[in-house]
Amino acid sequence: MKTLEEVLEKWEPVIGLEVHAELTTLKTKMFCGCELSFGDEPNTHTCPVCLGMPGALPVPNKAAIESIVLAGLATNCDIEKHSMFYRKNYVYPDMSKNFQTTQGPVAFCMRGHLELDVDAKNSGERYGVDKMSKGDVCENIVKTDNGYRAHVGITRIHMEEDAGKMIHIGGGEGRIAGATNSLVDYNRAGTPLIELVTEPDLRTPEEARLFMQKLRQIYLAIGISDCSMEKGSLRCDGNISLRKRGTTEFGTKTELKNINSFKSLHDGLYYEILRQAQALEDGEAIRQETRHWDPSAKRTIVMRVKETADDYRLFPEPDLAPFDLSDEYIENVRKKLPELPDQKAKRFEENFGLSEYDARHLIEHRETCKLFEDAIAVAKDANDEFAKGLANIIINDISGWLNADESNDLSTSPFTAKRIADLVYLSTSGRISKAQQKTVFAAILEEDKDPAVIVSEKGLEQVSDTGAIEAVVDKVLAANPDKVEQYRGGKTGLIGFFVGQCMKEMQGKGDPKLINKTLAEKLA
Ligand code: ADP
Ligand code: ZN
Ligand code: MG
Repeated sequence: MKTLEEVLEKWEPVIGLEVHAELTTLKTKMFCGCELSFGDEPNTHTCPVCLGMPGALPVPNKAAIESIVLAGLATNCDIEKHSMFYRKNYVYPDMSKNFQTTQGPVAFCMRGHLELDVDAKNSGERYGVDKMSKGDVCENIVKTDNGYRAHVGITRIHMEEDAGKMIHIGGGEGRIAGATNSLVDYNRAGTPLIELVTEPDLRTPEEARLFMQKLRQIYLAIGISDCSMEKGSLRCDGNISLRKRGTTEFGTKTELKNINSFKSLHDGLYYEILRQAQALEDGEAIRQETRHWDPSAKRTIVMRVKETADDYRLFPEPDLAPFDLSDEYIENVRKKLPELPDQKAKRFEENFGLSEYDARHLIEHRETCKLFEDAIAVAKDANDEFAKGLANIIINDISGWLNADESNDLSTSPFTAKRIADLVYLSTSGRISKAQQKTVFAAILEEDKDPAVIVSEKGLEQVSDTGAIEAVVDKVLAANPDKVEQYRGGKTGLIGFFVGQCMKEMQGKGDPKLINKTLAEKLA
């Protein structure tokens, strides 16, 4: 197969996402009073409504409606004041009603959008962006200082209910293929689910991944779901097609289903671009089908050929009255919107003088963002220098530690907000050097002690005493007369050597700024 770069010369990828989120933070199911349960004994949270017994009548969950309106407001959607539920008919054991209650052409939330900030390091998959200058506009993107910003339309967010869970026994990895028995657990049946559908505005696997990450941050911020891709409370289908660069008509798409990580979303779409390009160049037609990304085999395989919408016989749900949401209701929900990730990043930039890059990096992960805010709250003097030092330690050391091992968990770690704040303060006040900050950081993890205790136990306090530093500088210069001569003769690069020697002499505890200044004076 060709490389992505070669493919992009001739073909333009078109990507749209369908994202399902279970409203895991609610207490009860969508249309009955059954408790929402995750991981309980199978079939212990069911009733005639969620089992679809004849004559059982559904009652919509008010809190779920509020959640979807919040989601719509947080993603710049128009909230439809009049909408209703429909029946999507199908037969499968995971849905004992034989239909899923969902929404029709008009969903609670329509016509939204998100802006994606794509860093330079993630821009490589976007064709032509390297030839753009800051402020240039091309299709739905604008070039920024550090990458580009993409406008991604959201078609709709509608309300529906989850199906039960099938467990296949006897096949490989719980798959239906080769299974001898299948069990069904209806605890999940009727769980409130919202589905967001994007416009086909995405052009790279990286944009798709960033969209999902951003949406996840927003949903977490508004508190409607725990958004675990691993546990399946946040799920995503990736639709993708290719068209000849320069043409406007869409090609036939394939749909990647059951993607359970950001990496799989990216890698699966990336593979599909290469696969479809190969097929098209070989003169084959792309079939509209559902495919599955197999991360270990690193390829996609066909799951099924797509059913058409007619097969579902979507019709209005006769047991549920249409919804009328008042302006007053919508405004009351709007008042409950918390600070959203973009607003938070902007505040970090404005209040603490952080760069856009640092601010974005901090809001990417909830835990690190919380650590930043908690450390600011307990800091003696949260000035810009402190904030910058804090951002650095979180982005480099803390994130590095979190990424090093999946089991590393900030909430149970020795890195409390107070300790991190104290450590940053030790460094910004000049009591320890940058190198020693790393040593103390590692020691907090090792020894579970406060930074001040570590500094005094290890004798790490930085020497900023002018007299002591002058003595060391004199000693080093006296010991290297040849180098001093070379330096004075124009080999100024030797400054690094002198600083290094002084540091060595002081076991790394010398204040580097003061050493540099003293050396410069004495060598002049
Ligand atoms: P379907 O009827 O197959 O579900 P929809 O029109 O509802 O298709 O779109 C589903 C998702 O696929 C949306 O996110 C949409 O943006 C995207 N999509 C639609 N057509 C294409 C295409 N030709 N290529 C890529 N994505 C597409
Ligand atoms: Zn029930
Ligand atoms: Mg569809």
